[in-house]
Amino acid sequence: MCAGFVRDWMRREPIVIVEGHGTVLRDVKGREYLDANSSIWTNLHGHQHPKLNAAIQQQLGKIAHSSALGFANEPASLLASELIRVANGDLKPQTAKTANPKLEKVFFSDDGSTALEVALKLAYEFTRRTRGRKSQPRFLSLNGAYHGDTIGAVSLGHIDLFHKAYGGMLFKTDRVMAPYCYRCPFNRAKPERADARAYRKCNFECVGKVEQKFSAQKKRGSSFAAFVFEPRMQGAAGMIPQPHGWLRAVAEIARAHGSLLIADEVMTAFGRTGNRLFASHHEGVQPDFLCMAKGLTGGYLPMAATLTTKKVFNAFLGTYEEFKTFFHGHSFTGNQLGSSAALASLELLQSKASVRARTELQENITRELQSLWEIPAVGDIRQEGLVVGIELVKNWRTRESFALKERIGIRVCDAMAKRGVLTRPIGNVIVLMPPYCTTKRQVQQMISALGEAIVETCPQSPP
Ligand code: PMP
Repeated sequence: MCAGFVRDWMRREPIVIVEGHGTVLRDVKGREYLDANSSIWTNLHGHQHPKLNAAIQQQLGKIAHSSALGFANEPASLLASELIRVANGDLKPQTAKTANPKLEKVFFSDDGSTALEVALKLAYEFTRRTRGRKSQPRFLSLNGAYHGDTIGAVSLGHIDLFHKAYGGMLFKTDRVMAPYCYRCPFNRAKPERADARAYRKCNFECVGKVEQKFSAQKKRGSSFAAFVFEPRMQGAAGMIPQPHGWLRAVAEIARAHGSLLIADEVMTAFGRTGNRLFASHHEGVQPDFLCMAKGLTGGYLPMAATLTTKKVFNAFLGTYEEFKTFFHGHSFTGNQLGSSAALASLELLQSKASVRARTELQENITRELQSLWEIPAVGDIRQEGLVVGIELVKNWRTRESFALKERIGIRVCDAMAKRGVLTRPIGNVIVLMPPYCTTKRQVQQMISALGEAIVETCPQSPP
């Protein structure tokens, strides 16, 4: 995830953050900034939310942490039961085609990467126990996939810049075309001043590619153990949203081929992509493994959860001497402070006030973004709920990209920082993902700072 390389970083004076309230961050020199990417996609309700602070302080008066290896604790148990309730609660009724499983078991870990490692290891061993010890479970993930920086998660990843150097350490996974309407070879539409999904001309070839991949694997004698995806929007790939209907279609294909579904909702969960708590549920998809982290504690503390089914859980049940246990556990698993923050965050998320605030924030963002289309260097503006990616280009009429060495994204973000707005780019894509408490005025400030920064930084492109 380190887009700003270390030598560049060492040359500059870092912004040292010492305080935060709501959407505002304050540095050691007393300068204020808007947190336009929610502190790398983690913060939900704003900094120093009184309810979250109180929940943590109250828990701190009892105990900060005790081991969950062999023991239980109250906040983690309550959190597990609440996660199960919300993860099944807002799903559309099951149809014969979707065959959505019920998520009934929770495995806690520490961050997004470990949430994925847990899903991978469970899916791997579950497959061997159900298909036979000799089976060699294989995983399918998407082009441009990023699922974390630990070895299993990196093996699933397909971003050469981050992953290629470690090739020798990784296990082989398969990849398949992911939707990227703005740069899709099957999209026959000329560029317009709108989200490329809205004017695409294609036959959903990206779905066909997934079908082909599964069929080819079947011909080799077995299906993929699991299909791993970020639902609705691929984050580190460049904030690339999927045209609506894609997720449901590919989930049906994977299920028809007997593969498990692993949804990486590390970025998308907890209302980020709209009025449902989980992005998969927008398309009526319930995965077999639902991975969450970042916003789980409202972005306050590192904690993750991997939800799965009783069927998977049961495959790891046995007598002591059978050694069927899932041998995986982290020191801080089920941490009480994190669990208390997560419980408070879930309560807030389900309040009417939060639902209303998120709807208004989404509308405010949509409205303000429109002004950016006047800037020729803006090629695509993609918004999915409260996540936005703005792709900058040399020429919007041809979609010609800026060379990465021009560091356009980094320079635009530096120019935004000078205007009091902090975010990080992904290559030539600028990310906006503000906390849910962000006001209309703050949205205007963020987007006008972004507009000015683009105009100042990008060489004149054809109007
Ligand atoms: N999955 C996704 C979709 C992510 O965006 C990230 C982090 N940006 C991760 C996994 C890894 O999470 P973490 O950095 O907490 O390990």
